[in-house]
Amino acid sequence: MSHIFPRHTKQPPPVAVRGEGCYLYDDTGKQYLDASGGAAVSCLGHGDRAIIDAVKAQLDQLAYAHTGFLTSKPAETLADLLITHAPGDLDRVYLVSGGSEAMEAALKLARQYFVEKGEPQRGRLIARKQSYHGNTMGALSAGGNAWRRAQFGPLLIDMSHIDPCYEYRLKRDGETPEAYGLRAANLLEEELLRVGPENVMAFAAEPVVGATAGALTAAPGYFKRIREICDKYGILLILDEVMCGMGRTGSLFACEQDGISPDILCIAKGLGAGYQPIGAMLCSRAIYEAIENGSGFFQHGHTYLGHPTAAAAGVAVVNALLERQLIPRVATQGEKLMAALHAKLGQHPNVGDIRGRGLFQGVELVADRDSKAPFDASRKLAGKVKKAAFEAGMICYPMSGTIDGQSGDHVLLAPPFIISDDQIDELVGKLSVAIETAL
Ligand code: PLP
Repeated sequence: MSHIFPRHTKQPPPVAVRGEGCYLYDDTGKQYLDASGGAAVSCLGHGDRAIIDAVKAQLDQLAYAHTGFLTSKPAETLADLLITHAPGDLDRVYLVSGGSEAMEAALKLARQYFVEKGEPQRGRLIARKQSYHGNTMGALSAGGNAWRRAQFGPLLIDMSHIDPCYEYRLKRDGETPEAYGLRAANLLEEELLRVGPENVMAFAAEPVVGATAGALTAAPGYFKRIREICDKYGILLILDEVMCGMGRTGSLFACEQDGISPDILCIAKGLGAGYQPIGAMLCSRAIYEAIENGSGFFQHGHTYLGHPTAAAAGVAVVNALLERQLIPRVATQGEKLMAALHAKLGQHPNVGDIRGRGLFQGVELVADRDSKAPFDASRKLAGKVKKAAFEAGMICYPMSGTIDGQSGDHVLLAPPFIISDDQIDELVGKLSVAIETAL
């Protein structure tokens, strides 16, 4: 009998024993095409020699040193590398173990920044419905996914949640994408005025929404207007690129394509590519200087901050992304995946929308294409797609979630950047079988 506490206690998963390229294998020898990189993690695929060797070499040299006493060469190198390529005036890197930790650090840094600046009344966060920022209490409070939050209500922090930018469902007939982007962004200003801008510390959003909305990209101009509003009211912009960063959308940082830069940026997942657990929070020089010239101590921290072995994996991953020209490849393979999805599923009566950017794409399933009516939640369609895909030998990331009745079921696709043309065909074929089986 297993003593592991699995996520799904009624469906304990098979045992994974090997990974190679875009495939994982379980202990019965069954092969799975990793069409979602787990949860948008395995950007380089499995068994990448260069990353494995970098991790091994670091373990031989120095596995761990506590950041309360010492920094390490890989942590310093990774910070330099990220800042060299980061947008705007991001200047400092705080290395953590994953995405939730990065978001917790971001929330606490935003708060401490205003305390140090002598504006202690600024403590409120505005975020969005249909977003996911992690499962720890601060990050979960920031997230707007009702299902994930439901039973933890008494533990969550009071924050504001505005509508996401969701063209497929919220753009009005006849409205241009640009006009809709502006209208959606202006919801931030409305909420600021409602709660009093002097009480707000930051706005947090995913540039491309992943887990809770199936690769939802923002309408043109949305984030430019968001940036303007943040500047107008002196609040910080926190971008959560835990899923969509590290090349996944075709640029190293997703926000580059929106033409803006944040005050705080969170990354994880693809940063370690699954070879080590690592995340990072990047912040602007101004924020860092407020702490440096103030108390001189960021009131936060975990034991595994700046972990040398994890940082060594991060350095090897970023170098691999850049040196192997994998980010331009994301754009070309992403176009092929999008075209293949449209060809196979574009006219399907239960496919409402196919969207995304780079190798970060989503398929929204609907009961009725014309009315865009979602399937009844009791059908648990997303769960059925996941099961059917798994049985067909593919790992993908379906989610159900109705937020104010805006959305139903979608499937998130985030394959390794090395995915070949044949594997794209295999992915789309298996997805189509899984959808038919689930329906
Ligand atoms: N933020 C986003 C956008 C995510 O998609 C996730 C995880 O899916 C997180 C934060 C939390 O990251 P982690 O699971 O590494 O804690």
